Amino acid sequence: MKLLLLAPPGAGKGTQGERLAARYGVQHIAAGDLLRAEAQAGTGAGRDIAAYQARGDLVPDQIVLDALTPAVVEAAEGGGYILDGFPRTLPQASAAAELAARLGVALDVVVYLYAPEEVLTRRLLDRASQAGRADDVADVIRHRHRVFAETTGPLVDYYTERGILVAVDADQPPDSVTADIQARLELLPFLAN
Ligand code: ADP
Repeated sequence: MKLLLLAPPGAGKGTQGERLAARYGVQHIAAGDLLRAEAQAGTGAGRDIAAYQARGDLVPDQIVLDALTPAVVEAAEGGGYILDGFPRTLPQASAAAELAARLGVALDVVVYLYAPEEVLTRRLLDRASQAGRADDVADVIRHRHRVFAETTGPLVDYYTERGILVAVDADQPPDSVTADIQARLELLPFLAN
């Protein structure tokens, strides 16, 4: 199973990613978590990453590729992955596709989680009162949604054209979203055998 979760901030990529990884016995690779860990390590690149994340801007593609590629290659060799939040730009998608072609492993499916922006914003503000992520404040949330629409949104068309996109309504309780994703995945030929 090689699956990418494509979703705006607050849609539940992290929650669904963990569940799918457990269900299919593959690794969950969360780009935001990996980058936050690198930021906390306080290396030169880490300080740059922290600044981009705090503003809600995307981390530059080359830094992301350097941070994510080893984990993706290792997981692909180990049987698959649930990629959560990477690729998030067209250049990242091209680089990831080239890498996959070189390794002889292609993405099986992209699950696009969608929900109205006001629902997503409410969830993130609720999370802020518990988890305290520094980028979960109203103006940074608004900026992250704008960045998603402008820079990550085009990946919906990119993967639709490649025939591997499945869109799931994320404006439902988490268990219903999980059930919908699994029902859609079970219709796919690569899981049938
Ligand atoms: P969310 O989807 O709610 O924004 P994430 O943890 O996935 O949460 O991402 C948090 C931040 O990490 C993003 O705002 C961005 O700064 C950075 N980030 C995560 N994934 C990528 C990526 N693929 N490319 C560039 N930046 C990324």
